[in-house]
Amino acid sequence: MLGNFEYVNPTKLYFGPKALDYLQRELPKYGNKVVLIYGGGSIKKNGIYDSVTAILKANGKDVVEDAGVMPNPTSDKLTEGAKIAKEHDADLLLAVGGGSVCDYAKGVAVSAYCEDDPWEKYYVRQERVDNKIIPVGCVLTMVGTGSEMNGGSVITNHAQKRKIGRVFKEDVFPKFSVLNPEYTFTLPKYQMVAGFFDIMSHILEQYFSGTDDNTSDYIMEGLLRSLIHSARIAVRNPQDYEARSNIMWTATWALNTLVAKGKRTDWMVHMLGQAMGAYTDATHGMTLAAVSLPYYRHIMKDGLPKFKRYAVNVWDVDPTVLSDEEAAAEGLNRMQAYMKEIGVVMHAAELGMTADMVEGVADATFILNGGYRELSRQEIVDILKESM
Ligand code: NAP
Ligand code: FE
Repeated sequence: MLGNFEYVNPTKLYFGPKALDYLQRELPKYGNKVVLIYGGGSIKKNGIYDSVTAILKANGKDVVEDAGVMPNPTSDKLTEGAKIAKEHDADLLLAVGGGSVCDYAKGVAVSAYCEDDPWEKYYVRQERVDNKIIPVGCVLTMVGTGSEMNGGSVITNHAQKRKIGRVFKEDVFPKFSVLNPEYTFTLPKYQMVAGFFDIMSHILEQYFSGTDDNTSDYIMEGLLRSLIHSARIAVRNPQDYEARSNIMWTATWALNTLVAKGKRTDWMVHMLGQAMGAYTDATHGMTLAAVSLPYYRHIMKDGLPKFKRYAVNVWDVDPTVLSDEEAAAEGLNRMQAYMKEIGVVMHAAELGMTADMVEGVADATFILNGGYRELSRQEIVDILKESM
């Protein structure tokens, strides 16, 4: 139900093959000192680094680099990045990469001037940000997380075996993001499909909550149908601009706060996947793929009308000859077949998860209660075992 809410999304987007040209328009809005943040080097191989640095140079920016942001960025790296940003007195953090790089840049933005330990304050204790925040801009090279237009920032602490997501408010959202679908053409297939499933999961984890009639659910069904269609095309032909551009846009709308309006939202698949990630450091989207069906089959009866609606409106299941339960189950069966078709990892064992990790991963799983039922710890253990 749509009760009282505020809605604003302050991120300006530049989309399309010429999107990077608009970096010229953004840079003059910030002071001279820019920290260029990127990952393990893919942007040097595909030329994006050269394009971005040429524009920074043409605008007379004083650039310092913070490279080597790893997939699933760590709290140790965050400490390092915060120090660089503060020492350089950064006016802008320009993140060039995927969700890891964007999430990390937001972490640096709030951490540079934090007088406490930022991991403890902003991730473990989830406290309000009360220090200076450095503006973030983003040039996206990997599609999935929605980090380009949201306040999400997921950081992993290996020593504590915890992977925690923080959702910052609008003052930490990227000020602008450059979205060129062609930049995603060089992604390895494994990363590409992991991103596709991350998008699907973001939508489903908001969709599977509530029993009311809500505009957000209709938007999400449309996003899902578009994603399912375009991802099939992209898997066959990764250079298909039409499909890749649709997917990029779907990813942004899947998690830029719009479709959460009026929803309680569930997020248990992300909680399970992140806990698994804390132990295995596996690719985010694949951890979600491994736990999704065990989780949804586990709670299907608790949210039966919605699971039936999903089957009918997203997977074209004909409900007339089936019971509600059969129709709902058939929707999940079609989802399973589709996941296999696009090539996501279906079993946690393939992600380095071992039986002796199950109890620890269960302990690291935050149990939320926005979906159809709050799980017990034993159910978490059962779902994790099932996901193996
Ligand atoms: P990613 O970790 O940013 O990138 C994955 C890999 O793809 C990296 O090895 C990267 O290589 C490579 N890559 C990126 N762009 C490429 C390109 N154009 N060509 C070739 N290789 C490329 O992946 P991600 O899925 O976008 O981000 C995952 C992180 O985001 C996880 O920590 C996850 O928990 C978090 N997350 C955040 C949100 C949110 O709301 N903010 C939501 C879901 C998940 P290089 O390092 O060499 O560039
Ligand atoms: Fe995600």
